[in-house]
Amino acid sequence: MAAPLKFTFLGTGTSSGVPMIACDCAVCTSTDPRDKRLRSALLVESETTTIVVDTGPDFRYQMLRAHVRKLDAVLFTHPHKDHIAGLDDVRAFNFFTGNGMPLYANSMTQEALIREFAYAFADKKYPGVPNLELNTIDAEPFLIGDIPVQPIQVWHLKMPVLGFRFGNFTYITDANRIDEAEKQKIWGSKTLVVNALRREKHISHFNLSEAVALTEELRVEQAYFTHISHQLGRHEAIEAELPQGIHLAWDGLAIHC
Ligand SMILES: [Zn+2]
Ligand SMILES: [Zn+2]
Ligand SMILES: [Zn+2]
Repeated sequence: MAAPLKFTFLGTGTSSGVPMIACDCAVCTSTDPRDKRLRSALLVESETTTIVVDTGPDFRYQMLRAHVRKLDAVLFTHPHKDHIAGLDDVRAFNFFTGNGMPLYANSMTQEALIREFAYAFADKKYPGVPNLELNTIDAEPFLIGDIPVQPIQVWHLKMPVLGFRFGNFTYITDANRIDEAEKQKIWGSKTLVVNALRREKHISHFNLSEAVALTEELRVEQAYFTHISHQLGRHEAIEAELPQGIHLAWDGLAIHC
């Protein structure tokens, strides 16, 4: 039996974050700290290895807030800006270790990283730019240190996005559809994290009722919803109406699984 892993939600908000700039709604003006959501990202830790899933625009502050001193790798779900924009700040880890940062991404996300951070992949680099090492992943499971990673391909409208299963814990951000064959890879998970944007239907994200239905279909013991919009409502009110075992995640929540 593998030692339990620790999973920390670094951010649980949708692309605009919560509060959203210039919004005075009841969620954006809430004083409940659980209604403050940075862009979605996850920290995964074993005794020896620390990895992060996605480096959105809040990456630097997320590393500071969670007191991350050492980072062994970054996994990417997909190339939308709210999941890659903060990548430049991995150079702080480069400076301390003197090593490149291993990045794990599918070829579509790698193309975007090379385009958006061209200066870090240039032949002649300006001093101090991030030192990035690309690793291509597809459907095959792999190890980062002692952490097992099983990619799960889900659909975000027409974009293939990677979810990741780490032992008994499955993490799926941006998705609105999962093929049956990929659902097989989730079965048996104790904990499922999945996006639940808002109540109303959305073109590329599960809404609240779709996320609940998926959780019940896959019969996981506990589920946490993430990538939440201010349109969903206040944390406390939504949490109170969810079925047993299903919760809204919040920034800073840590789970051992
Ligand atoms: Zn997103
Ligand atoms: Zn708002
Ligand atoms: Zn997205």
